[in-house]
Amino acid sequence: MPQKAKLGQNFLADHNARVRIVEALGDISGKTVVEIGPGKAAITELLAQKTSRLIAVELDRELAASLRQRFAERPVRVIEQDILTVDLDSLRNHDEKLLRAGDEKLMVVGNLPYYITSDILLHLFRYHDAISRAVVMMQREVADRVSAAPGSSDYGVLSATTQLYARVENLMTLPPEAFSPPPQVYSSVLRLTFAPRFEDLGVDAEGFIAFLRQCFAQKRKTMQNNLRAAGYEAAVVSQAAERAGVSLQARAEALPLEESARLYRALHGR
Ligand code: SAM
Repeated sequence: MPQKAKLGQNFLADHNARVRIVEALGDISGKTVVEIGPGKAAITELLAQKTSRLIAVELDRELAASLRQRFAERPVRVIEQDILTVDLDSLRNHDEKLLRAGDEKLMVVGNLPYYITSDILLHLFRYHDAISRAVVMMQREVADRVSAAPGSSDYGVLSATTQLYARVENLMTLPPEAFSPPPQVYSSVLRLTFAPRFEDLGVDAEGFIAFLRQCFAQKRKTMQNNLRAAGYEAAVVSQAAERAGVSLQARAEALPLEESARLYRALHGR
């Protein structure tokens, strides 16, 4: 079966890394686990030994067919589909008892196809209510951005958005040789523990994320310039900034979420 570069097929060959990725999910017995891009089952095999509710979503027809064959006798459901079109909520176990125990949420895992890393993250955030934890491998440069703290030059709209939905831990970095064939980049594994912050920040998800995009529109510009370019009146912005105690001369990358939320609330009269 030839490797399809356009589907991001760099298969994990490092056994130790597979074990660590599965361990990073914590106890998965009795949980529903969704694997994104199982490929040739490097991680799937270990997952199947630990949970009896595994759903593997693979876009490649041949890989999906061979996974179905390999796991025919085991409780692994293979879905041949683009992960970006999968309704994750429908994969939850809606058993009443589990719902009451708050135990019905999904664990997500995957060595992601790197060509759609950000889209996959945004897809997971869309279904944040359905997910408790995700352990995902991605290109190191994207992982560094996702996990960057405010004040670092890597901190941008993807960091802020992710950190609104989840606590982020950067668990390990792997060299290209850990994969077959080796990709051109280093890779890192992140653990996202879903804990949305909208309520404690007093903001609505859609409006606040749109506001963050405006703040980060031109990364090198100050907040003042970006907000003006977004159409806010200068006087309105400076009054709101004063009420919120936020400096408009800062760049968005310098602002912790608490500060940008205060500014957003002041601008929208909240
Ligand atoms: N999990 C395997 C491993 O670690 O060796 C394979 C990882 S490989 C980096 C990414 C996998 O995602 C490939 O099997 C690829 O066919 C699959 N894939 C690519 N695009 C996809 C998509 N849109 N939806 C689901 N799977 C996809």
